[in-house]
Amino acid sequence: MAVVRTLRTAGAVVATTAAALLLPLTTTPTAQAAPPSLLAPDTEGLTPQLAIAYTLAAHEAHAAGVPLWINSGKRSRAEQAALWRDGLRTYGSASAARRWVLPPNESTHVTGQAIDVAPRAGAAWLQRNGFRYGLCRSFDNEWWHFELATLPMTPCPPRVPDASARPRR
Ligand SMILES: [Zn+2]
Repeated sequence: MAVVRTLRTAGAVVATTAAALLLPLTTTPTAQAAPPSLLAPDTEGLTPQLAIAYTLAAHEAHAAGVPLWINSGKRSRAEQAALWRDGLRTYGSASAARRWVLPPNESTHVTGQAIDVAPRAGAAWLQRNGFRYGLCRSFDNEWWHFELATLPMTPCPPRVPDASARPRR
């Protein structure tokens, strides 16, 4: 019992100290705002695994002075449908459009399993180093599109030429 009581006392001290440390924050004008996410910007809606893997990779890239951000991550079905319609208009046929954009029921952006990153230097860094976090470039024709495609520290699978060459899910 004595041990339990000591632990409880220690816990109370820690909690009190933590509250005291947090106190100055609660007095700032932004006290009502939600605490900042620990995840990288624009990871909302991604699978937790992808959000965490990208966050870790982005931290490392930024620490090395490499610019890297997400241009497009999770997309709603409506957003993807609009992109698909644009693609059909731009490329003239479904088979041509599929090289660059997939309909909502096939896009890994809709399921939160893909990110399009920028700028090019950051994407090149991620292509070299992403495998350490399980992140791989998917397509030969899209230098910006990455997915979780391997276990951390294991090589990425071979890229496919474009999205139309990927087996339908
Ligand atoms: Zn993409």
